[in-house]
Amino acid sequence: MEAVQEIEYTKPVKPSKLWMPKQVLITPAALQEPWGQQMYERVQALGLPVQELKSNRLTGLRGEDERETYRNAKSTLAIVTAPPSALKLQPIPPSADYQFHLAEGCPAHCQYCYLAGSLQGPPVIRAFANLPTILNNLVNYRKPNEVTTFEASCYTDPLGIEHLTGSLSETIRFFGEQENMHLRWVSKFDQVDGLLSVPHHGHTQPRISLNADFISRRMEGGTASLEARLAAIRKLAMPQLLGGGGYKVGLVIAPIMPIPDWEEQYTHLLDRLAQTLDFPCEFTFELISHRFTPGSKALLQEWYPNTSIDFDESTRSMKFNKFGGKKYVYTAATMQQLRSFFYSELNRRFPAAPILYWT
Ligand code: SF4
Repeated sequence: MEAVQEIEYTKPVKPSKLWMPKQVLITPAALQEPWGQQMYERVQALGLPVQELKSNRLTGLRGEDERETYRNAKSTLAIVTAPPSALKLQPIPPSADYQFHLAEGCPAHCQYCYLAGSLQGPPVIRAFANLPTILNNLVNYRKPNEVTTFEASCYTDPLGIEHLTGSLSETIRFFGEQENMHLRWVSKFDQVDGLLSVPHHGHTQPRISLNADFISRRMEGGTASLEARLAAIRKLAMPQLLGGGGYKVGLVIAPIMPIPDWEEQYTHLLDRLAQTLDFPCEFTFELISHRFTPGSKALLQEWYPNTSIDFDESTRSMKFNKFGGKKYVYTAATMQQLRSFFYSELNRRFPAAPILYWT
């Protein structure tokens, strides 16, 4: 009982609502995978309607317009097999050596969503049924005699769908058994209780994405509240002896935006973080400023016509990515102002916590 009391948060925090899709589709190929069967049983046990598809292609998700397509897709979970191309891993600097995917798509509704324009077709949430194949393939990418890091949240929020898939805890368990292979993932959700007792052996770094309360409330629909995310990071970082996960955690502050009272807003966030991690634990920071591309802006404005995100190109600097695509970032002067605020405030409050990068 003492352990439970130790982990109790300073004030009661309402956990976020679990996402429940309106429909679940499962392909014939996914049904043949034991992990697909496991997901099928999970969603059935939750009372969700499951439709067994006749073919491995997802069809019929398009609505009359982009918004209806968005609504249909974002309320659908499809259990599918990842294509063979998913087994050819791509590097993902500065976050990790390689990215791999447990799923594609995310049930949240962030008005700046990083996925807008990067995934093909309607934004349906696809969970991969061939998980053992995906995990066993990672071993082929392990570097000799040094730790190789793998990022699992480039195309999804793996914690937001964990109650439907179980794939994140299975992946943490898998990495716990591997030498020199570390897992990284990031989330805006808070349902971490099921991850606290998974034998991770220090090979997983969970990160929670945080932002100013104003941005979380206005622009991150369907995610856990800031207070719920702080409670989650506390549980993950708390030593196992005290009932926590004993993970070395990470804080991703993103996307940083110079909203009118940004200094006050971000100061409040860092104050709350210091109160949250008020016990000895290890953690790192990653700092990401807001950016957009012409394609992501067009799609996001269709999805969220009343968005409060500042998409004005005239106040931005244009950059080219390595494939020649345009992206809009803040001007050098704004970047410098934001960057020096975060570096000085973080170094002052958390001198032992490395800042892995600013971008
Ligand atoms: S949590 Fe991430 S992936 Fe999901 S909607 Fe928000 S930005 Fe997009």
